[in-house]
Amino acid sequence: MSGHKYVIVGGVAGGMSAAARLRRLDEQCEIIVLEQGPAVSFASCGLPYFVGGEIEDEAELLVQTPQSLRDALNIDVRLHHRVVELDAAAHLVKVVTPNGQQDISYDQLILSPGTVAARPPIDGLDHPSVHTLRTVADASVVRELVTAGAKHAVVLGAGFIGLEAAEGLHLRGVDVTLLEAAPHVLPPLEVEMAWLVGQELRRLGMDVREGVAVTAITDDQGRAVVHLADGQTVVADLVLLSAGTVPASAVFKAGGVACNDRGAIIVDDQGHTNLIDVWAVGDVTVSRDAVTGALRPVPLAGPAQRAGRLVADAIAGSGRARPFPEPLATAIVRVGDLTAAMTGANRMGLDAAGMPFTTLHLHPLNHAGYFPGGSQIHLMVHIDPVTGRLLGAQAVGKAGVDKRIDVLATALRAGLAAQDLIDLDLCYSPPYGSAKDAVTMVGFLADNVLTGQTALWQPDEVDWARQQAFVLDVRTPAEFATGHLPEAVNIAHTQVRARLDEVIALAGGRPIAVMCQSGVRSYLAHRILVAAGLTSRTLSGGMLTLRAWLGGQADAVLVKGDKQ
Ligand code: FAD
Repeated sequence: MSGHKYVIVGGVAGGMSAAARLRRLDEQCEIIVLEQGPAVSFASCGLPYFVGGEIEDEAELLVQTPQSLRDALNIDVRLHHRVVELDAAAHLVKVVTPNGQQDISYDQLILSPGTVAARPPIDGLDHPSVHTLRTVADASVVRELVTAGAKHAVVLGAGFIGLEAAEGLHLRGVDVTLLEAAPHVLPPLEVEMAWLVGQELRRLGMDVREGVAVTAITDDQGRAVVHLADGQTVVADLVLLSAGTVPASAVFKAGGVACNDRGAIIVDDQGHTNLIDVWAVGDVTVSRDAVTGALRPVPLAGPAQRAGRLVADAIAGSGRARPFPEPLATAIVRVGDLTAAMTGANRMGLDAAGMPFTTLHLHPLNHAGYFPGGSQIHLMVHIDPVTGRLLGAQAVGKAGVDKRIDVLATALRAGLAAQDLIDLDLCYSPPYGSAKDAVTMVGFLADNVLTGQTALWQPDEVDWARQQAFVLDVRTPAEFATGHLPEAVNIAHTQVRARLDEVIALAGGRPIAVMCQSGVRSYLAHRILVAAGLTSRTLSGGMLTLRAWLGGQADAVLVKGDKQ
């Protein structure tokens, strides 16, 4: 490929990975990176932490400069160069530069223009207090507003970036109202996981409002007045718009690049678009979900950088390049003292794909209980109900969440069934884990469920339990008194054997819905009941999961006090 001219649009994650890899593959080629902004290779993912002050110096966000890239890799980075037209037949792009418009020809063109902030149809969204967090300049503006005394911020959209921005603003002493139109914060998280995150945000002192849309933004003496669909208003010095993204593909679509109905560029598994010698990577592209097969963008840095490398291999490598893997959308976010992470499909994706699943909930400790400082990991895993194939996993907790989700993401990629997790040899010593690690416990539970050793009922079957089953709560009386289903009878799991006749009489032929705090003791009771010939199911994740599932309704549904 010596002597080839590669032009790359977009000089951040996908674009710069492609450029750097191209140079390593081909010393003789010409590589031009066209970046419309004032910086190349900047750390978008670090922007919220710069707002919050944990990253103090703006320079830390600028991972490379055009000069460092010229020196190390002989890459010609042109800042303030915006591609405004693609003429694929002539193999050139038209570029607006500080010195006027130029035509730049290419042999191969790689598009990595990313996304822009979605702008929902809200009247007044052009109010001067409304900002986005996409670039270093955006982050500097937000930081300056805070330094200048902004007291109250509205964060519009509680996805990953919204939560990180909200936390950053909170760390700087700003009062934050977090608005989310979906029923709960972090919409890709399952409701029983998202509840924990919402509670943590509230514990931090944020005003979290879920399931409410913004209808308009008006002005009151320079401050933004955010109007909500429920009739309420919130006055803010700063409104941070983080309501999703749209692909920055319009220019390329106009030039003939095929996009889906949402404007995401369609590529094959090597990054090739429908046009000869035109390739695309990163957030602007659509990918096939590894679990459900659904087509969707996965706007994450890891997949973008990986695709940048792989597209360079496809263009300039020798032999067939490794195809782009279908992403699992593995993601993580810190929220106060908690971490939330996920990999693979959630219920909504599985339902949309018509894929049956069974959900396992566990609440293991992050490390051995006898070693000081252990904390619970709230873990849930969706598995195929017949084969046990892992379909998706989510976790929320104070420590050890990243490790468990990364192990599960690896297992998902390998196509393992949940029972195969039993076979993993994971590192253990008391400060780090347990001899039976949280991931191993997923394997044990899955094996029990798939072999019929245990049968589960899920929190969304609470009406079935209350109306058609005998609810047997096997926690201690003290735990029971803190809140229980109104119909539940309390017999501690240690007494179930001795009081079997009583249980049989109370059940009166109904199935028994056993429950405890986390699902461990109810499993023990379940085995006793099954051995006695009774039909029993144990609540997945126990009261910990049920409370989170009920969320704000928990206090209305559960009753306190004794009932033996
Ligand atoms: P980008 O990195 O967005 O780069 C696209 C570049 O193309 C931009 O600089 C843009 O100016 C330029 N461009 C666009 N159109 C043109 C044009 N016509 N001409 C010239 N230049 C053009 N991901 C994670 O995995 N983990 C995180 O923690 C995380 N945190 C994030 C936090 C924030 C605040 C943001 C904004 C993103 C975060 N992401 C995170 C997402 C991650 O940054 C993106 O997935 C990744 O940067 C995508 O790479 P890309 O190359 O596709 O696009």
